[in-house]
Amino acid sequence: MTATLLDGKAVAQQIRDELTSRVANVKKKLGRPPALAIVLVGDDPASEVYVRNKLKTAEDAGMGVHLERLPGATTLADVLSVVERFNHDARFDGILVQSPLPKTLGKDAEQQVFDLIDPAKDVDGFSPISAGRVVQNREGFAPCTPAGVIELLVRAKIQTEGKHAVVIGRSDIVGKPMAALLLHKNATVTICHSRTRDLPAMAREGDILVAAIGRAAFVTPEFVKPGAVVIDVGINSVTKLEDAQRIFARYPDRLEVFRKRGSVLVGDVHPDVAATAGALTPVPGGVGPLTIAMLMANTVRAAELRSR
Ligand code: NAD
Repeated sequence: MTATLLDGKAVAQQIRDELTSRVANVKKKLGRPPALAIVLVGDDPASEVYVRNKLKTAEDAGMGVHLERLPGATTLADVLSVVERFNHDARFDGILVQSPLPKTLGKDAEQQVFDLIDPAKDVDGFSPISAGRVVQNREGFAPCTPAGVIELLVRAKIQTEGKHAVVIGRSDIVGKPMAALLLHKNATVTICHSRTRDLPAMAREGDILVAAIGRAAFVTPEFVKPGAVVIDVGINSVTKLEDAQRIFARYPDRLEVFRKRGSVLVGDVHPDVAATAGALTPVPGGVGPLTIAMLMANTVRAAELRSR
């Protein structure tokens, strides 16, 4: 069997296209397009790339976007005061503080920041109010990555009702909300994590398997029920030649990427899984573009709610 590739890029484009008329309507009502304020602290290279993509996507969608850069040596109080300022700034419908924050800000810095974001502007869905609304299946902003996965499943007409969905990973931004959203789609949900016993056997129970672990090519064919739908949330950069050779031994085109760039992206799912799964999201081009599309969708919705 060779898995059908689930084209996240195409679905993300569809989602963005559908936003065009809504952006125009907001513009008519508010006299400005929906607008997002992004806060970037420090100079983490991966965050730089993510933020650049978000800025470009927002601009391409005709939305307003403002980037507030703070140096890595910033204090937590500074970050909180920027968030507070944006909470009260009527020019912005959404606020996103790029994660991770520098470790120097302290262990619970992100929690304090997410606690402060006005739930009406919490387009990343990371505040405890948003999290509670997701669990209770109420109106609100769901975190963009799991929300994007649900959009993909729905648009690819993949049935969730009555299916067994196994989510590997229990983070607040992916694993837990993913499980809650699948539950609301009437799947029977199992959450697995680093302490789960016999993980491959548990994962193999899944008609739908979501991998959100953060470990390159961790999910091998023995984790996958033949024909299962496999959603690969992981984005890992492989920078060692021996790792690239091990993972991509039978994929010369990916090894070629490594040779050219000195690194290559791989998900949490091993490429060999394509021979066992029924459907699979690629990395890159799967869940990543959906996450950004959902951020735009959440920002447009935040603006619509303000303009009502
Ligand atoms: P995280 O580190 O917060 O959580 C990882 C989870 O994986 C933890 O709950 C942990 O219990 C579990 N885990 C770790 N090691 C394990 C093991 N050996 N066996 C079983 N479970 C294990 O990560 P996160 O923020 O949830 O992100 C997960 C992955 O998704 C990362 O690769 C990240 O880069 C990626 N990600 C992608 C997008 C996107 O847009 N595609 C968005 C967010 C995160």
